[in-house]
Amino acid sequence: MNSSTDNVMLATDRCGVLAIDLGALGENYRRLAKNVAPAALAAVVKADAYGLGAVQVSQRLYQEGCRRFFVAHFIEAVQLRSSLPQNAAIYVLNGLQPGNEERAAALGVVPLLNSIGQIEAWSQTACRVGRTLEAALQVDSGMSRLGLSPDEVCELLANPGLILNIEVTTLVSHLACADEPANPANARQLAALRAISTAFPGLPVSLANSGGIFLGGEFHGSLARPGIALYGGAPVADRDNPMLPVVRLEVPVIQTRTVSPGTQIGYGGTFTAKTATRLATIAAGYADGLPRSLSGRGAVYFEGQRLPIAGRVSMDSITVDISALPEGALDLGTPVEVVGKHQTLEMMAADADTISYEILTRLGHRYQRRYI
Ligand SMILES: *Cc1c(COP(=O)(O)O)cnc(C)c1O
Repeated sequence: MNSSTDNVMLATDRCGVLAIDLGALGENYRRLAKNVAPAALAAVVKADAYGLGAVQVSQRLYQEGCRRFFVAHFIEAVQLRSSLPQNAAIYVLNGLQPGNEERAAALGVVPLLNSIGQIEAWSQTACRVGRTLEAALQVDSGMSRLGLSPDEVCELLANPGLILNIEVTTLVSHLACADEPANPANARQLAALRAISTAFPGLPVSLANSGGIFLGGEFHGSLARPGIALYGGAPVADRDNPMLPVVRLEVPVIQTRTVSPGTQIGYGGTFTAKTATRLATIAAGYADGLPRSLSGRGAVYFEGQRLPIAGRVSMDSITVDISALPEGALDLGTPVEVVGKHQTLEMMAADADTISYEILTRLGHRYQRRYI
């Protein structure tokens, strides 16, 4: 492990270095925990902790005091379970698919119950294994994605026997528009969840994702569940990002050239040099998570200088215009910044017509991952 925070680029046999700053991750956890106190703070570590490594991220957050971790799929819970102490709870947001219940019970994984069918299956499993099983109950408060519908909540309340042998420890719902503070859907969802929660007196409530935390205290409930903000992404659109950056991506130059006016560059010849142009080809492409939609739009940076992508993003490389740099500034192997001090995830996402979440979760597997 390299403790240096500058020049993370050492390995030349890889297509780049993805540096993950676990210290910044820890600081983001502490900031969010302070923000939501006295509510507790969980961590959403689905999709391999948004591509950063679920095991490394979860173990670091456990050190910070995090005891609740959310994944999307049961398989992710299985993979994470043995890396965390038993007093860390792992919740499965998508719930269990039929057939996984007994394994989940044996591992002590906590499913979200998203339907009457899942409640019945978990209750039957509890009977079979002969003990009470923990679960979280997810209700749909307006997103129409996962969780019991209002009708199903009524059905459950009319048939309390359905939930026999299940110890429900949290009432969960999810906000559809949390990153848009002015969106009236947020207040509507909060009101809907409050109405449902009156039927479950005393049951802890969890509503806020990263954006929800910044909507204010009434959204915090007993347990907040951020993902992107822990990883340095902006929790609220179009506002200053209060989180520390966690990710840096540097990719080496693998060839430079100068082309004369009229030369076409890259697949499809979509870019034609207007003047004599100096170019550098760098060693990552769409197979490494640099979206093809950055073709002719995105950029990389070198010592603060923006280097626009010339032509299309290829599978394994991109070509950038380096005419703005002094001649000889870039050698073979020189790392350029793809994500870092000058280019945030949000900037890259805007150029690619997507969101920071998609950029982060798609960063490929050919980089050397270096934990700082
Ligand atoms: C992914 C997810 C989160 C975390 O969302 P962020 O916007 O990354 O903070 C929280 N809750 C649920 C149900 C999710 O699916």
